[in-house]
Amino acid sequence: MSDIADKGSLVEEQQRTQALLRHQGRVRHLSTGICQECGEAIAPSRLQVNAYAQRCFECQSDHEKKERHYRV
Ligand SMILES: [Zn+2]
Repeated sequence: MSDIADKGSLVEEQQRTQALLRHQGRVRHLSTGICQECGEAIAPSRLQVNAYAQRCFECQSDHEKKERHYRV
């Protein structure tokens, strides 16, 4: 009885993990090369370092400053 329950929860957990990975895959898409904050082109050198960059260098450092600020 407990074996069946364990298998059931394991399958459930796998399904949840897969759903989460699919969700993350959708969110973390490759960069369009355009900054989502200011609409300017992201520097190719930046895209070489991070193909997922969604912001130009300036907006990214602004964003990180804000994130750091919230954390403190
Ligand atoms: Zn920008």
